[in-house]
Amino acid sequence: MAIKNGNPLVGVSRCLLGDAVRYDGKSKANVIVLEKLSKIFTFIPVCPEVEAGLSIPRPPVRLTHSIENPRLIGRDDPSIDVTDIMQQYCNTKPDELNQISGFIFKSRSPSCGLNSTPVFIEGRYVTETSRGIFARKLCDVYPDLAVIEDDDLADETHLDRFIETIDTNVKRKL
Ligand code: SF4
Repeated sequence: MAIKNGNPLVGVSRCLLGDAVRYDGKSKANVIVLEKLSKIFTFIPVCPEVEAGLSIPRPPVRLTHSIENPRLIGRDDPSIDVTDIMQQYCNTKPDELNQISGFIFKSRSPSCGLNSTPVFIEGRYVTETSRGIFARKLCDVYPDLAVIEDDDLADETHLDRFIETIDTNVKRKL
């Protein structure tokens, strides 16, 4: 396990840290991440959409076409297709994250959602439990990585399991 500033390295969807990187130019600051988990982990912030080259703000996108092999298409303008640019990013970014022990994802995002992202096929919503393109790739590359999404952080059992998977001793610091 890689340690920095005395704590395990953990990746986090950057908008959860309060950075205004979302498609609407806003953040999704999460109080558990900022006030609790920041005491026991050293965060590596990652915003796949911005790091792939998309702007802030930007047109919202959603997963379409297929549950297993989705495309990232504009929610309001279906002529927008950022699938290839995101896939290129996802092919290289996981190598840079080879020191992390866990990742905290933003729920429901077409890039970062872990088990909560909706998929639309032929304009109809077919599931709400799919995985964002970046989250899928990172979990494929590191199948043993400890992962959680922000919707589950308030569930103490879920959160404890995430923390203890990374380091059974780290909870003592809370
Ligand atoms: S959910 Fe992921 S891609 Fe979207 S703003 Fe947050 S970090 Fe960036």
